Amino acid sequence: MISLDFHPVGRHFLQIPGPSPVPDRILRAMSLPTIDHRGPEFGVLGSKVLKDMQKIFQTQHPVIIYPASGTGAWEAALVNTLSAGDHVLMFETGHFASLWNKLAVRMGLKAEFIGLPGAEGWRQGVKAEMIEARLKQDSGHSIKAVCVVHNETSTGVTSDIAAVRRAIDNAKHPALLMVDTISGLASADYRHDEWGVDVTVSGSQKGLMLPPGISFNAISPKAIEFSKNSTLPKSFWAWDEMLEMNKTGYFPYTPNTNLMYGLSEACDMILGQGLDVVFARHKRWSKGAVAAVKAWGLEVQCADPELYSPILTGVMTPEGIDADAVRKVIYERFDCSLGTGLGKVKGRMFRIGHLGDCNDLTLIAALSACEMGLKLSGVKLSGSGVQAAMDYFSANPIPALIRP
Ligand SMILES: *Cc1c(COP(=O)(O)O)cnc(C)c1O
Repeated sequence: MISLDFHPVGRHFLQIPGPSPVPDRILRAMSLPTIDHRGPEFGVLGSKVLKDMQKIFQTQHPVIIYPASGTGAWEAALVNTLSAGDHVLMFETGHFASLWNKLAVRMGLKAEFIGLPGAEGWRQGVKAEMIEARLKQDSGHSIKAVCVVHNETSTGVTSDIAAVRRAIDNAKHPALLMVDTISGLASADYRHDEWGVDVTVSGSQKGLMLPPGISFNAISPKAIEFSKNSTLPKSFWAWDEMLEMNKTGYFPYTPNTNLMYGLSEACDMILGQGLDVVFARHKRWSKGAVAAVKAWGLEVQCADPELYSPILTGVMTPEGIDADAVRKVIYERFDCSLGTGLGKVKGRMFRIGHLGDCNDLTLIAALSACEMGLKLSGVKLSGSGVQAAMDYFSANPIPALIRP
C-alpha cells in the first residue's frame, strides 16, 4: 500500500515537465497569512503581479489571472473571443494540441485539426506553411482563429510562433492568433507583442515554479475587440469585469491569495535574474539532456534539433521496451518521477523535465536515475549519458556564482 510518507529519506526528484519543483523561497512567501482580498494591501499585491506578468509575457497589454488550472485559461481564450459554431484552425503537434482541440469541439466550435499524418507529426513543430496554405483557401474568412501550442509538453518540441504570425499575414487573413505556452512561459523565450499573438494561454505550475492553481490569458487590443462581439456563454471566464476590477489591482471574485504571494516572489526571482539569463540556462540544460540521450544510443522524441524544447527532453525507448515500465523502475528504486508518454506515444517514450527550479546537479541526478533505470530494465546502452552530460556542463560552465 502507498502511504503519504512514501518518500522517507532525502528529497524526491520531481522531474516531470510540470508541476515542477517549488523553490523554498516561494513556499515561504506562500505561507504568509491570507489577507482580505478587498482590503488595501491586496490592491498593492494585485497591481504588482499584474504588472510583473506583463513583463514575463513581454507585453504592454493586459494579462488576466484566473484561479484555475491551464485548462480553464484554454477555455477562457475561446469563450471570450468566439461565437457558437465559429470555425477555428488548430495544428496537431501532440497530446496538448489534441486536448485543446477536444475542448474547442465541446464548446460547440467547428474546430478543424490539421497536421502531419500519424505519430510523425508528434516529432515536429507547427508547419506554418500548411497554415498559410489553408488560410489562403479561406477567401470568405470563415476561419476566426488559429490555435497552436508553443511548447508541446507531450513531446518536447517547440514551434516558431513568429512564423505562424507571418503565415497569417502572408495570407492576408484576419483570424486571431491564439497560443498555448502553458509549459513554456518563464523557461523558454516568449514574446506576446513582438510575435503578434492575440491571446496567449499559460499556467502557474510549469516554468513559473509555482504549485498548480492559477492560469493566465495575455490579450491583444484586437482580441478585446473580438470579445465585444463574441456570444459564447461566459461568466466566470469573462474578461470585461476582470479588466475593470484589475485597473485597481482587485478581482471580481476571490483570487487565489496565497498563490499570488508565490507569484509575486516568482516574478521577483525571474525578473531579478533577467529573462535572458533564465532562457539561456534552460537551453543549456536541454543540450546536456540531449547529449545524455545520444550517448545512451537512444533517440530524442523531437526530430528537429532546431526545435528541442528548453523545458523537457522526450526519450524514445527501443522497440520492445515499455517506457512506462522503465519509469516505474526509476520511481520505485530511485524516488524520481519522470513524465509518462501521452496519447499516440504512450509506452514509447518518457519525458525528463528541466523547467523552472533546476540546476546542473539536479539534472545530472535525474539523468543518473534514468541511466540506472534503463540498465535495470534490460536496455543495452551504448555509453554513459551521465558522463556525456557532465562533459557538456563542465566544458560549458555557467559563470561563477557571485556570493556577496
Ligand atoms: C500542462 C499543460 C496544459 C494543461 O494545463 P492544466 O494546468 O493541467 O490544466 C495544457 N497545455 C500544455 C502545453 C501543458 O503543458
